[in-house]
Amino acid sequence: MALARDPLVEARKQLRSAIEILGLDDEVFEALAEPERVIQVKIPVKMDDGRVRVYTGWRSQHNSALGPYKGGVRYHPNVNMNEVIALSMWMTWKNSLAGLPYGGGKGGVRVNPKVLTPGELERLSRKYFEAISDVVGPDIDIPAPDVYTDPQVMAWYFDEYNRIKRGQYFGVVTGKPKDLGGLEARIISTGYGVAVAAREAAVKFLGGIEGKTVAVQGFGNVGYYAAKFLAEMGARIVAVSDSRGGVYNSKGFNIDDVMAAKKREGTVARYEKAEKRVGALEILELDVDILVPAAIEEVITEENASRIKAKLIVEGANGPTTTEAEKLLSERGVIIVPDILANAGGVIMSHIEWVNNRMGGWITDEEAIRKLEAKMSENVKRVVNYWEKKLSSKRPLRDAAYAIAVERVYKAMKLRGVI
Ligand code: GLU
Repeated sequence: MALARDPLVEARKQLRSAIEILGLDDEVFEALAEPERVIQVKIPVKMDDGRVRVYTGWRSQHNSALGPYKGGVRYHPNVNMNEVIALSMWMTWKNSLAGLPYGGGKGGVRVNPKVLTPGELERLSRKYFEAISDVVGPDIDIPAPDVYTDPQVMAWYFDEYNRIKRGQYFGVVTGKPKDLGGLEARIISTGYGVAVAAREAAVKFLGGIEGKTVAVQGFGNVGYYAAKFLAEMGARIVAVSDSRGGVYNSKGFNIDDVMAAKKREGTVARYEKAEKRVGALEILELDVDILVPAAIEEVITEENASRIKAKLIVEGANGPTTTEAEKLLSERGVIIVPDILANAGGVIMSHIEWVNNRMGGWITDEEAIRKLEAKMSENVKRVVNYWEKKLSSKRPLRDAAYAIAVERVYKAMKLRGVI
């Protein structure tokens, strides 16, 4: 799906609104509207047929007032620099809101990884990491998985960095495989965190999660695990989709069965136990209690906002709702649990992994998941509390999340004397 707009424009609108709520000066906006550093790198990759193809990648380091930059790297054919900058800004707020000692960063490579062989993917990953190796490190900038990158890619990054630096720096990337200091729980963590956030919001705004109908748009890592855990919590997943289309069944789906079909067919759209097929965007407009957009940016816009029927939207993806759409939905009383709150489970788990690596520890997955759950539900309660106490109910929850996040970054910048 081509990006119709510029996510950086949306990110700046959100920042502007937070600055206004907090009553801060325009110079604070200026200090935060641009990344501290963004690098663009050329990545020549020897393909299996012997030819060399050149890819383009970026790493954007938005803000480091709270600590080293932290955020994933995505491989996607539509990635561009402004998108990576916007995503790094969102990481600053996400990390700040979650109370982590991290600034915000994000990387991207403009590539369709689905058409690469494993060898090509490895060479691309190593070359990219080599190209950014001077600006990353366990105390500088810590990459992690994002769209279409996974623990194997992190293992290559980890090895490449340590080859160049001639060391064993486990804390340079998170989301590593278990045998390289990672946690198995990192794989489920973003989706699990989305499910916990949805459950907390459903308890608060819909009277509970049990029996609530859910549509999940996007069936990658985040969408799949969000659906799986929401079903375990008693919700009914009536619709799922991926980039090629979706399916609906009023009785609800068995999520692992849908995943098996996706593995077989390459898409959920051909899953046989469906009452009807739905389009990749049509799924957003279904009559459900909870909608989980878990794919990419800007799918809920002022164009389709009026047709959205869900009472609660929980953003698994980064930036799925435009500012205009959010305004229209909030005025109608639709509650949106914003991305920086709802999908923070990944980076929270990354932090647990990083701490464990740096102290040479052996935390168990069970303990890590317990910590994650407690942090996610506490974060939701903190944002809802701020919203109820300080903002009008017509304003989106995002305003509360941003006010908390931006204020913490602002205070850190003040303390350091940066502004
Ligand atoms: N890519 C994930 C995100 O957008 C997680 C980043 C991390 O674990 O550092 O939040």
